Amino acid sequence: MTTDARTRPGDRPGGHFHDVEVIGFDADDTLWRSEDAFHAAERRFVELLDPHTPDGIDLGAALTATERANLSISGYGVKAFTLSMVEAAVTVSDGAVPASVIGELVEIGHAMLTEPVHLLPHVPEVLARVGATHRLVLITKGDLVHQTRKITTSGLEHHFEHVEVVLEKDAATYDRIVRHVGVTAGRFCMVGNSVRSDILPVLALGGHGVHVPYHLTWEHERVEHHDEDFVELTSLADLPTLFAPR
Ligand SMILES: [Mg+2]
Repeated sequence: MTTDARTRPGDRPGGHFHDVEVIGFDADDTLWRSEDAFHAAERRFVELLDPHTPDGIDLGAALTATERANLSISGYGVKAFTLSMVEAAVTVSDGAVPASVIGELVEIGHAMLTEPVHLLPHVPEVLARVGATHRLVLITKGDLVHQTRKITTSGLEHHFEHVEVVLEKDAATYDRIVRHVGVTAGRFCMVGNSVRSDILPVLALGGHGVHVPYHLTWEHERVEHHDEDFVELTSLADLPTLFAPR
């Protein structure tokens, strides 16, 4: 999407969101950092495997392709990613990867699973402000144990009347959630960093979307999109003005 296609809060003085009753928040890279750790792990994977693979193998591409191939088997999240690192390590080294390297890859996964939550800027105060006028729900995909740990240790759980850890963020999932919280899609707005997962399926249902990009985007979440009707904010700090009562 080009810069001029973006809508800023000032362009739309509240009317668009006036009917919104429930705001859904994505978690990873919307409320707290996530993708940074995956990128660091990918860089370490390349460093660790480079001495054990022949020249001419694109280690990053091999890992990404393995992750993608395993999505339907292992789902999203750190545990699935760790298994993919191990599988890719065996493949790219033609079985020659030392057990010590496999051990390091598993250790990277453990470290990611136990890393403390790092909230993104403005998150607690923004949730408090929009939570004063709207019902909030948290919708995140990934590993149930890890996501639950992040939600409970973040100190943010009390802002949300409902928390869902889902397998996939598609229109059927959002449809189920809006029914669960008792609103029509037109009264629901999703806020998140992924156009593919947080915005487009909600728009398809007739709901609203606010895209807050993160500086890193996972390959799988990249998507072509044109002229869809959603707002893009450069900072979550601008969110309360969208939902402020007129
Ligand atoms: Mg996200």
